[in-house]
Amino acid sequence: MGYRFSYKTYRLPLRPPLRTAHGSWSVREGVVVRLEDGAGRVGFGEIAPLPWFGTETLEEAESICRGFGERVTAEALAAVPARLGCVRFALEAAGNQGVPQPSTFRLPVAALLPAGKTALEALPDKIEAGFLAFKWKVGVGEMDDELGILDDLLSMLPAYTRLRLDANGAWTARQATRWLERCAERPIEFIEQPAAPGDEDALWGLANDFPVKIALDESAVHLEDLRRWQMNGWTGVFIVKPALAGPLSELRRLVEETAADIVLSSALETAIGRHAVLQAALKGKLTKRALGFGLGDVFGNRQLDGPVVGPLLDSSWCAGVNLEETWTALS
Ligand code: MG
Repeated sequence: MGYRFSYKTYRLPLRPPLRTAHGSWSVREGVVVRLEDGAGRVGFGEIAPLPWFGTETLEEAESICRGFGERVTAEALAAVPARLGCVRFALEAAGNQGVPQPSTFRLPVAALLPAGKTALEALPDKIEAGFLAFKWKVGVGEMDDELGILDDLLSMLPAYTRLRLDANGAWTARQATRWLERCAERPIEFIEQPAAPGDEDALWGLANDFPVKIALDESAVHLEDLRRWQMNGWTGVFIVKPALAGPLSELRRLVEETAADIVLSSALETAIGRHAVLQAALKGKLTKRALGFGLGDVFGNRQLDGPVVGPLLDSSWCAGVNLEETWTALS
């Protein structure tokens, strides 16, 4: 079977830039792809690599797209190497041109709080809006300051809510120990990446020594990483950015086969990539945890961001995205 293939690269400023332990991030680059089958059915996908997170580069992705030309066979699409997870995620999404089944499923969304003490100012509005889960980036400022802010945040949170922390691998062993001790008796849903991804012994040690659940993010970017941790007996959580991990159907199979406990999370993609992920989430059975898509607008543009993501996601979000118009807006 053959397809007409086209692609476009994009370069978009993040509004506002994102502050993490990796530093400040201000521009998102990627590629959007369009596949049209012999019956004239059109599908879209997004390649949104993050090379510093362990994915392929934008250049590698573009080179694959250039190589396809204007017509591409299903065999050529299937032959993209497994290590190009972002490309494979996009091509599978673009090949799914059927009309989605309506879903009555709903999923909670975790609201991302800004780093530092600005989190305290942002929290009341998010609680008021009805969010049940919150995420706060740590390892950005001084540890003692952040531990103080943590106490303040927890004192503001209603008992029915949960807080996630994300250290982005920035803590030393001593810092991680202090944080995990501090969090032991508190309503922390999990701590993301309390040690660097290269320090797997430290991650196993922390998971065994403390009651707080640990989530792997930078340590488990690709589907084969998740599979390996699961095979080795990991009982924590995985933060999965499906746009980086690989085809959504393979993620679903992995969750079915290994019962992996995953959080679906944004890789700061446009509405095209986000639509593919959220549509899969709304089919159910992929995750029981609040979605990591409550980061507000990424590009400050409805067409590129899609509808506002509130505390509870349902299929009206997907219905509110016009992929064709987003594609056009990206030229
Ligand atoms: Mg993270």
